[in-house]
Amino acid sequence: MQRHIITWALSLGLLSTASLANDIQIDYPGSHQAWQLRHCFQQAPAQMQAHGEATLTLTADWQWQGRSLTPRGRRLALPAGEAGCLQYTVKPRAGNHNQRSSRFRAQHPDSLLLSVDDWQWQASDQSQRQWPQVTINHPADVQVSAPWQLLKRSARQTHYQMKPSPSYANGFLAMGPMQLRTLALGESRLRLAIMAGNHTEHSDLLSDWVKQMAASVARVGESFPLPEVQVLVVLMTGSQGPVPWGQVNRAGGQGVLLVVNPESSRASLFADWTAAHEFSHLLMPYTPYDRWLSEGFASYHQNITRMRVGLLDEPTAWSKLIAGFERGQRTAQQRSAPVLKEAGRRHNMQMYWGGAVFALKADVALQQQSGGRMSLSKTLAGLQDCCLDTGRSWTARSLFQEMDRISASTVFTRLYEQEVKRAPFMEYADLLRELGIERNAYGRIRFNDQAPKALIRQRISLGY
Ligand SMILES: [Zn+2]
Repeated sequence: MQRHIITWALSLGLLSTASLANDIQIDYPGSHQAWQLRHCFQQAPAQMQAHGEATLTLTADWQWQGRSLTPRGRRLALPAGEAGCLQYTVKPRAGNHNQRSSRFRAQHPDSLLLSVDDWQWQASDQSQRQWPQVTINHPADVQVSAPWQLLKRSARQTHYQMKPSPSYANGFLAMGPMQLRTLALGESRLRLAIMAGNHTEHSDLLSDWVKQMAASVARVGESFPLPEVQVLVVLMTGSQGPVPWGQVNRAGGQGVLLVVNPESSRASLFADWTAAHEFSHLLMPYTPYDRWLSEGFASYHQNITRMRVGLLDEPTAWSKLIAGFERGQRTAQQRSAPVLKEAGRRHNMQMYWGGAVFALKADVALQQQSGGRMSLSKTLAGLQDCCLDTGRSWTARSLFQEMDRISASTVFTRLYEQEVKRAPFMEYADLLRELGIERNAYGRIRFNDQAPKALIRQRISLGY
């Protein structure tokens, strides 16, 4: 929109303040070509800032109302308070930020997969502004998938509302030929986008699979944890296993990315743990400084969720948990972080499975103290009401204070202070014995229903 039109429309009162406050329009011509982005303000900020170095590489030709601008470092100065539009070109082929690998480029030559932050200049005073709406104009053979809240979609236009999200998080904008489906799960909507390449025949199977994995997670917190989530499935050959990669994303909104091998069978896809793990991450808010916590709870729930919907039978689910605990304890005894709280990327098994023992211990303690009225699942259901979609990051301490409040207990902060901050791994052998989970000489799981906490084990298995 040109300046004189804005001025004219404002003077006639034709445009509301909100619609002009901060809107982004993208004209994407398709097939990797550069696109124009126009970010219009009713009152410009003094500065725009680049998220990182990538933004400087991927964008060019910055103009304010037709006048050229030059960035200084990661900042672009604008005439503060003026109405108008910042326009620039995004060159998705510049740099190496768009395509995750040469294999992706070869198998999806007409598609883009870009971090949502890499190509955007953001108002330096964004926290005091409304978040922009984004309108993407695209050819009819291009579909768009983004983590932002979807407002409207038509053949050539996709319209989103941006909202606050935690700093330093990942998120993806995908554009290209995709199969789009909206999967309803109770009140929630999964916005599934399948980037299929040459393997377009799998969309029914993949929809079923995504829905079942998400539904298993919905069995934990009474409903699926979020009202809306982006699910991006990228089909790629050339890797081992049915789901060679998965990740949960928090930038721009909540999203799950799953890379699926199109040569895998239905049975192997449904037997894989990755999707249940990634969806389980959504039961908790973003805790970037405590990876043991987010990975631990997801590792616990990837088995609990699948057991509750019958994707895993009870002995198999518990044997997978115990195998994980043992791997974690073994590595914690060898070369590990001195305490679980400090376990990071270099201590994967300690971090994933130490955190999973924490989740089991907290679950059992809550059930025991409350006589079965409270549980980890009920606490996570409480998180849905207050804390999952706020766009903030949490520390373990702040989240555990909230979880103690929800569960009317001190279980989370107590376990955190007394064990996670003091030992490399939590003891679990006695706990398994009390729950009546035993192994015979061949390593097979047996349940002892006479054990003192056998009822708690049954409640965990069945989810009531
Ligand atoms: Zn994970």
